[in-house]
Amino acid sequence: MKRYRYRKITPEILENIKILNDKGLTQVAIAKKLEVSSSCVLYWGSEGQREKAIARAQKSNKKLTKEKIKIKNQKRAEYSKNYLNDRYNNDTEFRDKFKKMVMKSFNKRKEVWAKQNKCSNCGREKIDKSLKTCERCRGK
Ligand SMILES: [Zn+2]
Repeated sequence: MKRYRYRKITPEILENIKILNDKGLTQVAIAKKLEVSSSCVLYWGSEGQREKAIARAQKSNKKLTKEKIKIKNQKRAEYSKNYLNDRYNNDTEFRDKFKKMVMKSFNKRKEVWAKQNKCSNCGREKIDKSLKTCERCRGK
């Protein structure tokens, strides 16, 4: 199995954590076998751990100042960006899904533009309403 710097916990991994947990394997052994961190095994594999972790995070978030929240959100955005970049570049299945998702949302937007009789390419107002694209997109 290919390893990524950022591993997404798939339903398959969750199921395997549960199976190996029921078999009585230790957290560390499960983590090694599934190539995930042991804290991840604890988080997903033990009853109530996830709820506890969420409650803990909410409690500590209440103590944060606005400045610290801002920094935290920036870090989260940075992590998301790195995660997406990393998977997009290394995981062809993910890349295909991502492209499909982007195209789907673009096509949805195009439908809305068509209903509003706007340019099908960029969504701007058209001068000539009989044509599909705007003057700018037609290079005029
Ligand atoms: Zn246009």
